Amino acid sequence: MHRNRGYDELIAICRGYLTNPQNYELIQKAYDYICDKHANQFRKSGEPYRVHLIEVACTLAELHSGPVTIAAGLLHDIIEDCDIDEEQLAKLFTSEIAHLVMAVTKITKLSSFDIIDYQAENHRKLFIAMARDIRVIVIKLADRLHNMRTLNFMPKEKQLSIAKETLEIYTPIAHRLGIYAIKTELEDLSIKYLEPEKYENIVSLIKSNQNLRNESMKRIQSRIEKILFDNQIPYEISGRVKSIYSIYKKMYLKDKNFNEIYDLQALRIITHTKTNCYEVLGYIHDAFRPIPGRFKDYIAMPKPNLYQSLHTTIISDDRNIFEIQIRTKEMDETAETGIAAHWRYKENIAYDPKVEQKEIEEKLHWFKDLISISDDDSSNNAKDYMEALTRDIFEANVYVMTPKGRVIDLPNGATPIDFAYKVHTQVGHTMIGAMVNSSIAPLTHILKTGDIVDIKTNKNTGPSEDWLKIAKTSYALNHIRKYLSKQLLLINKDEAIASGKELFSIAVKEDGMILQDCIKFLEDDKYKNIRIYENMQELYAAIGYRHVSAGNIVAKIHAETKLQERLAERTAEILNRSKKTINKATSAENNLGIIIEGLDNCAISMAQCCAPIPGDEIIGFISKGLGVKIHRTNCPNMQQEKRRLIAAQWDPHIDNSLQHIAYIQLTCSDRPNLLMEIINCLTQGKISMQSINGRVNEKNSIATFNIIIKVSNADQLRNVFYMLDNITGVLSVERISKN
Ligand code: MN
Repeated sequence: MHRNRGYDELIAICRGYLTNPQNYELIQKAYDYICDKHANQFRKSGEPYRVHLIEVACTLAELHSGPVTIAAGLLHDIIEDCDIDEEQLAKLFTSEIAHLVMAVTKITKLSSFDIIDYQAENHRKLFIAMARDIRVIVIKLADRLHNMRTLNFMPKEKQLSIAKETLEIYTPIAHRLGIYAIKTELEDLSIKYLEPEKYENIVSLIKSNQNLRNESMKRIQSRIEKILFDNQIPYEISGRVKSIYSIYKKMYLKDKNFNEIYDLQALRIITHTKTNCYEVLGYIHDAFRPIPGRFKDYIAMPKPNLYQSLHTTIISDDRNIFEIQIRTKEMDETAETGIAAHWRYKENIAYDPKVEQKEIEEKLHWFKDLISISDDDSSNNAKDYMEALTRDIFEANVYVMTPKGRVIDLPNGATPIDFAYKVHTQVGHTMIGAMVNSSIAPLTHILKTGDIVDIKTNKNTGPSEDWLKIAKTSYALNHIRKYLSKQLLLINKDEAIASGKELFSIAVKEDGMILQDCIKFLEDDKYKNIRIYENMQELYAAIGYRHVSAGNIVAKIHAETKLQERLAERTAEILNRSKKTINKATSAENNLGIIIEGLDNCAISMAQCCAPIPGDEIIGFISKGLGVKIHRTNCPNMQQEKRRLIAAQWDPHIDNSLQHIAYIQLTCSDRPNLLMEIINCLTQGKISMQSINGRVNEKNSIATFNIIIKVSNADQLRNVFYMLDNITGVLSVERISKN
C-alpha cells in the first residue's frame, strides 16, 4: 500500500513547478501551524494526524496546485478539529485561505456518513458548495482519496457508507472534471469495500494467465516499437491492464465473461504532435487487424471533460485483443489530471481565482449549468429537482453534435428537445422539429453518441404541454414549465383571439402565401380537418393560447394547396429518370446484371477473388483476352491497378432471386454451443450456407470461422452481418477474399 510521505517529500514535489521562495514561506507556515494545533490528535490508524494533512497536500501538489491551495489543503481540518474559526484563520493567513478552509469544512459537515439513505437536500448542498470554487472540489477529492486509502482502519459500517458515498458522489465528480488518476483509484477502492468478494475474484482473474498476457503484451509492444522506430515517429509506449472497477462493471453490471472483455489490456502510445497521432494510427491499422466499430476519435471530438485521445482495438498476431490509445503528451496530462492540467499554477502570472473559475466554467459548460441551476431558488421540490440534477451530472454520457461540430453532452435517453434547450433556451422554445443525421426524427427520438442534430425552428411557435412527457433534462423541463405557466396567466379570450390572428397572419406571410386566400381556404368546410375548430374565431383563440401552432396550420394549408402541383412535378421527374436508366441499360446488356457504358458485346465475368454481389461498389478490370472482370472497388487486387480499369454499375432492374457467393469471417471468443448458434442464426435467416470452417486458438480461446454463404445482394449481406454480430461472443464479422 501507500507509504506515508513527509514534509520533505511534499516540498520535493512542489520544487517541480514552484520556484518563488515566497510560496514556500506560506506552505511552511501552514505546516508549522498544523503540527502545533493537531499535535495531540491521531488518526484511526494510530498515526499522527498531520500524516493525513501532508498526504492531502502531496496529492494537491501532484496536480500542480498553487501554494494557496496547498496551504488550504494542509489546514483543511483545522476549523473542524481544532476549535479555530474562520476569522482567526483569516488574521493569521489570508481571508482567501480562511474562506477555502471554511468551504471544505462545510462540506465535511454535510457529508452524510451516518445516514445510509442519502438525503437529496444534502446532496444538493454538497454540489453547490463545491461548485462555487473549483479549488474546494480538488481539496475535497484529495481528502477523500487519502481517507479511502486508509479506510481499513475504520469500523465496517463506516467503511460501507464512506465507500458508497465515494462511488456515488466523488468519483462522478472526478470523472466529470477528467481527473482520471484520482477517479480510477477511488473507484477501485470503493469496490474493494462494497463488493469484497467480487473484487478478490477480479484480482485473481487478472493474476491468472498473467504471464501469458505479459508475454503477448511484450511481443506486440516490441513490434509496434519497431514500426514506429522504422518510420521515425517519436514515441513513448506503455502497457496496462484495465482498472478493477471497469472490469467489475463489465462482468457484473453488463454480465460479460472475463474472457469477453475486449480491452482488458491496453497500450498507450504518447507521441509529439496531433499529426503524429494519426500517423501512428495509420501504421497500426496497417500492421494489425482493427476490430470494426471500436475506433474512436476523441481528438477531433473531445469528451466534455476535455479528454482527447485516439482509441482503437486490434487483434495481435497471436490473436490477443488490445486496446490502443494514442495521444500527445499534453493530451496525456489532461487525461490524468483533467481540468487541473489546464489551470496548473503558473508562477509570475497574477493568479485570480475568479478568472480561473470563469475559465473553467466556460470550458465545462455542464459546470456552469450546475451553478446557474443552484442559483435559481424557485424550485421547492428538492427531491425531484435533485433527481433530475444528479441525472444530468452523473449520467451525462451521450455526446451529440450541432451541424457546426459543437459537442453537446446529454444524459442517456435525452431527446431532440433536450438538445435544443441545451443549445439555447430560445432554440428550445421555438423548435418545431429535428433532423438527426440528416433525416427527420420525431421529438421522442432517443439520441445516441455521435448523432448530428439540426434543430428546425419557427419563432411563432412555443413549447407544448406534451413536451413535459418527452424531455429528460431538468434544464429543458424547467424552461418548458416556466414558459407554459406564463402562457396560462395570459389574457382573456378576446385577447387570445387577437393574438392568434396576429400570429396566424405572420406565419402566412413568412410562408409566402396570401392571407385572404388562406382564410378563405380555412373557412371552407371541405378543409375542416385542417381548421380543427368549429370556426375561425375558435381557431384564432387556440393559436393565441398556444394550443395549436399557427406555423403548423399554415404548413398544412401550404401542403394541401401545393399538393396537386407537386405531385405532377414529381411524376414527371420519375418518368424522366426511368427513361435514362432504360437508355443506359440497353448500351451493354448481359445476364450478370452489370452495366458498362459504351462497351457492347464484350465478355463480362465476375472476379473470383472478391466475389462482388449486387449493391457492392464495383469496377471493371479489362483483362487481356478474357474480356472484363468485375471486382469490388476495395478488392486488394485492384489497389495497384490504375490504367486498365473501367467504370461499371449494377443494373437497377437486376433479378433479385439470383443468389451470389460471399465469403465471410467471424472472430469470436470461444464458448460452448457457439458453432451451433451461428448455424442456427443463418438457418433462421433463411441464408443458404455452402461451407463453414472453424479453428480455435487454445491459448486465448479466440475462434475464427470462415463461412461461405449465398445472398441476393449487399443489403441482405448487411442483415446477415447484423444478425451474426448479435450473437454473444462474436467480436467481429468481416467480408474476406476467397483465400
Ligand atoms: Mn480530512
